Amino acid sequence: MNSELGLIKRQFGHRARLALSPAEIRAMDDQAHAARTMWNCLHAWWQMMPKSKRSLAAADQAIRQARGDIDFLAALPAQAAQAVLKTYFQAWKNCWDGRADEPGFKARFRSVMSVDIPQGRDLQIKRVHRRWGVVNIPKIGRVRFRWSKDLPVGKKANSDNRITGARLVKDGLGWHIAFRVQTLERVPEPHQGPEVGIDAGVNLPLALSDGNHQDHGRAPRLPNGDSDRDKWLNAEEKAKLLRLERQAAHRKSLRKPKEKTSRRLHRTYDQIRALRAKATRRSIDWQHKTTTALARQYGTVVVEQLNITNMVKSARGTIEEPGRNVKQKSGLNRSISQEAWGRTVTMLAYKTARYGGTLHKVPAPHTSQRCSACGFVTPGSREDQATFACKNPDCGWSGNADWNAARNVLHLYRIGLVEVPAAGRAVVRRACRVKPATAR
Ligand SMILES: [Zn+2]
Repeated sequence: MNSELGLIKRQFGHRARLALSPAEIRAMDDQAHAARTMWNCLHAWWQMMPKSKRSLAAADQAIRQARGDIDFLAALPAQAAQAVLKTYFQAWKNCWDGRADEPGFKARFRSVMSVDIPQGRDLQIKRVHRRWGVVNIPKIGRVRFRWSKDLPVGKKANSDNRITGARLVKDGLGWHIAFRVQTLERVPEPHQGPEVGIDAGVNLPLALSDGNHQDHGRAPRLPNGDSDRDKWLNAEEKAKLLRLERQAAHRKSLRKPKEKTSRRLHRTYDQIRALRAKATRRSIDWQHKTTTALARQYGTVVVEQLNITNMVKSARGTIEEPGRNVKQKSGLNRSISQEAWGRTVTMLAYKTARYGGTLHKVPAPHTSQRCSACGFVTPGSREDQATFACKNPDCGWSGNADWNAARNVLHLYRIGLVEVPAAGRAVVRRACRVKPATAR
């Protein structure tokens, strides 16, 4: 009904950094560890129970008992415990639907620390300064966060525009809050801008078919052909990272078997994580700015349908049939994953929709090997990955390889080759051991 009035419901997340005191950080860590323990208890319970007794009600009863029996689980607010339960059952559902692997235990140092705040009204958000907001975190209290976006709170909040919940997440740079925001917005006018094809370039992070490349001014590939993991760090930070990694490797080599990781080594790991998180934040920032600019400028955006997990997998091959050129391919794959192509496409999808444009995906075999001038496919035309030279004797076109691929992508869209969205993402990575009762 709302869409008839020219309004559309939009749901999005907004992430902000929290300013916590050391004591609050410790309290948050305790909550996250309690949430992880709760998950592990649930998983142990699930494995122990016969199939017929694995119901949501029984699980709820089990976690209530666990909260009574184990002291430190009480650090976790009841609502957050309920959220763990919900997420755990959803994880099995995702597995049965073939979207994910089956859930497992969460290790202390290998899982992301997070706590859910499922209800928006618990948050009581207030803006207190041009740059600061205050949010209420259950069992912690009022905490400041960076106000970097206009959020629907206070008088601006109503049943259509509000914050429906949040999730606290810790990365290498500390605790963040990710708000779940719901708004009702005007349907945008159709975007009259031009069409553009985009290729996830090997040499250019985003190559556009009209030649306006989106570059971040950082070499995507290092001269030695190594991964481009650290390109978002400056020389000083890179040197520091290298030093820390050497230090960590050295300390690890001195550790005796079964000895606990020392505090000092943990500290070094934390410092490495912080630098990595910094690099990730910068790359996401660049992606946001670039995709917004693209969505503003172009009415129709066409991208290549890449299946990144499959590509990485096929390069590695299986034990019986090892993949060929594994090293070269893995370098390429790393570079693609590094550019986080999937994330770029996700951003483009919702941003083009917001500006009234559309995003199309084309199935794209040979886009990098086909000549965009004559259409001739030459495996190996891509001489050194930077320049494309056509091997067709009547054509002989040569130019930037990424630009060539982007032009091919746009051409495929213009001739009507658009990927039909498959019903559900049926990417079965590994069959679940435990199937729902109905499936047997
Ligand atoms: Zn040609």
